Amino acid sequence: MREKLSSVSSGVVRGALDALLPLRCLCCDRRVGSDDGLCPVCWHGMAFIEKPVCYRLGTPFAYDVGEETWSPRAIAAPPVFDRLRSVAFYEGSAQRLVLAYKFGGRRELARPMGKWMCNAGREFLGPDSVIIPVPLHWARLVSRRFNQAATLAQVIATGCGGTYQPDILKRRKRTRRQVGLPAKERRKNVRSAFSVDKSRLDRLEGRHVVLIDDVITTGATVTACTKTLLAAGAASVDVLTFALADPARSDAGQEIHP
Ligand SMILES: [Zn+2]
Repeated sequence: MREKLSSVSSGVVRGALDALLPLRCLCCDRRVGSDDGLCPVCWHGMAFIEKPVCYRLGTPFAYDVGEETWSPRAIAAPPVFDRLRSVAFYEGSAQRLVLAYKFGGRRELARPMGKWMCNAGREFLGPDSVIIPVPLHWARLVSRRFNQAATLAQVIATGCGGTYQPDILKRRKRTRRQVGLPAKERRKNVRSAFSVDKSRLDRLEGRHVVLIDDVITTGATVTACTKTLLAAGAASVDVLTFALADPARSDAGQEIHP
């Protein structure tokens, strides 16, 4: 409602509108001065990932080592996808936003979160990109009522002019929740979990895919998705997530490669 009203309001009317519908921090609900924003406390609590980063895994380097440099982890075990980029580490405000969006009914967070993701993935997002969300199994879709990755993918496709394709990649088996599983178990859990819709292969063959998810932990899920997409004819796959659970910074993840 604010958006519609704002678009037709003058500065004066906007001021009156702000008094009626005060702008709130996306994360903690404190009053803030601008739309789609965080208060200073929550902004400080966002562990944004900024350049310089590993060309393949998107993890930050302490100092600039030049373009397209791989981290030791990427050299030791290159991922099957080309590049991974994330907005922030999965902690503090980023973690609170993901949880509020996914489980707290705050679906309106898709728009600001998706905008941040457009910025994080700007080096590979474009009009030629096929934007594919990590799919949920239908049974989980019924219980959760929306696919958090799909709603983010829609916002990102609109932002970069790419093509949103939610129906190509399918989750054919219902996997156990990945949270709490060790890396080896996660890989086993998602093996053969995904397939592509053979009737839609023409939308995939030879195309550059950007795979979207809200959080990446070990990378087992996006690795399984990438293998499926490449086997079905995609030319390349990059991965874009809102948050990155990094083993060096939290206990949530362990390794980010296959
Ligand atoms: Zn706040």
